[in-house]
Amino acid sequence: MIRSYDDVPVRPSNMAGPAPEFPWPQGLRAAMMLSFDIDAESAITSKDPAHADKLVSMSYGGYEARVGLPKVLELLRELELKATFFTTGWAADAYPGMVESVLRDGHEIGHHGYHHLLPDPGAPHIESELARGFEALARFGVRPVGYRAPYGESCDELRTALKREGMLYSSSWRDDVRPYRQVLPNGAAGVIEIPPTSSYDDWMHGMSTRFGARPIFPKEHVLSMWRDELDETRAWGAMVTTVLHPLVSGRPMRLRLLRHFLQYAIECRDVWITTGEQIARHFETCEQEHAAGART
Ligand SMILES: [Zn+2]
Repeated sequence: MIRSYDDVPVRPSNMAGPAPEFPWPQGLRAAMMLSFDIDAESAITSKDPAHADKLVSMSYGGYEARVGLPKVLELLRELELKATFFTTGWAADAYPGMVESVLRDGHEIGHHGYHHLLPDPGAPHIESELARGFEALARFGVRPVGYRAPYGESCDELRTALKREGMLYSSSWRDDVRPYRQVLPNGAAGVIEIPPTSSYDDWMHGMSTRFGARPIFPKEHVLSMWRDELDETRAWGAMVTTVLHPLVSGRPMRLRLLRHFLQYAIECRDVWITTGEQIARHFETCEQEHAAGART
């Protein structure tokens, strides 16, 4: 509860200026960061370790390695697309085969915490989640350049640590339709932010569990929403970022939806569908060219 008007600072919560409208490569009109989050059972035990003994609840996470991820990878091979998979360190340790199969297909692996613990301000595990996540992925020779916060939450301590760790980009903030450069509390430049698009979170429309009961929606309903979001974004020359989960989108009905949506996006022929790293590197190049142009 707010006790005094001095409790909340009167300023924007994000001090970064407007996102620059850099053009997309090859004259393309818009972009899509195609990304998935691999949580497996860590999404369930992160809320309460006692869930580990609730085997049917756990099995929603287990579906990811058994069926979901192989089906998603098969679809991406079929459509010749590359994606980013933000993977928890726990999932990498428990299911090394998942990381190996993602790498074998040439996709990007991103950092998604170790045990999917919520990075609320002041949380005691912010540094250990980062460090253990890096260690788990390093066992596969991976040093990720992208980070997505578990539960989509972040704070100043975390984004300052991402910059210190040399990360290239984060994909967590919900406040833009283009990438931009974060500004840290001390005014220094932070990592590049590639904002996720909330409507492309498959969990919201397609998953209902004991600890997260919600209605699920049919393909026509979600496809209509996803197409509208993409079409308007194309008109704006902006970008969308998917927040998909193989344990949701790897289920038969959801995979059919994803196939139809991605086929639609490909047939638009003006959308750059790619990984977070590619979009961040492109942004970095444009930013450098812009800075050089401003100096001359
Ligand atoms: Zn997650």
